Amino acid sequence: MSFIVAIDGPAGSGKGTVTEIVSKKLGLVNIGSGAAYRCVALETIKRGIKLGETQKIVDILNEINIEFKIEDGKDVIYLNGENVTNNLRTKEVAKIVSQVSSIKEVRFKLNDIFRKCAYDADVIMEGRDIGTYVFPNANVKIYLDATAEERARRRFIQNQEIGVEMSYEEILENIRIRDKNDMEKEIGALKMAEDAIYVDSSNMTIEEVVKQIVDIINKKK
Ligand code: C5P
Repeated sequence: MSFIVAIDGPAGSGKGTVTEIVSKKLGLVNIGSGAAYRCVALETIKRGIKLGETQKIVDILNEINIEFKIEDGKDVIYLNGENVTNNLRTKEVAKIVSQVSSIKEVRFKLNDIFRKCAYDADVIMEGRDIGTYVFPNANVKIYLDATAEERARRRFIQNQEIGVEMSYEEILENIRIRDKNDMEKEIGALKMAEDAIYVDSSNMTIEEVVKQIVDIINKKK
């Protein structure tokens, strides 16, 4: 049986950053479910598909190949053979990803891919519904949270680093809309699993969050 760590929480709670560091420290394969949903959103934009054209979006899943790799010690994501890591955080993708991920068939297909990834490897997976839906029997479940303002501040800095131009207000607005959408989804809604450990990172440094999570995982190993 593989060992599974599920880290769920809202946009900007630090899941991505923390999960990447923890995965390297503990030798776990890092599967970013948000990045996978973003790949589908990116491909939707590339193909000029409208949000209402659900079947066309679902069809994308039969034709795309998403790969999680490590290059120069960093996690990178390939979509159909192209490194799209820095293209996944654009304003356009952020705007539609929540709606794209609300399509049931998209969720079913991506969940199949995630479960296959964990079949014969010890994994850490971050997202919204990993501990509640994708891996309800995960060995460790953590719900990572922070205030909306703090999450927007972090995304703003992260965007500046990768050259995405969005104002703080625009990001905060997008985060609030996405929170609402993500919490109201029919399937895979963002909510804390009953047996998850709650971590509020609002006033914590990345190092502090990493330490706390590594300690929690080590206790369960
Ligand atoms: O975590 P990240 O912000 O990259 O996720 C992008 C979007 O993908 C979220 O706003 C959410 O709509 C969707 N998502 C999801 N289920 C997951 C992970 C992400 O619906 N497990």
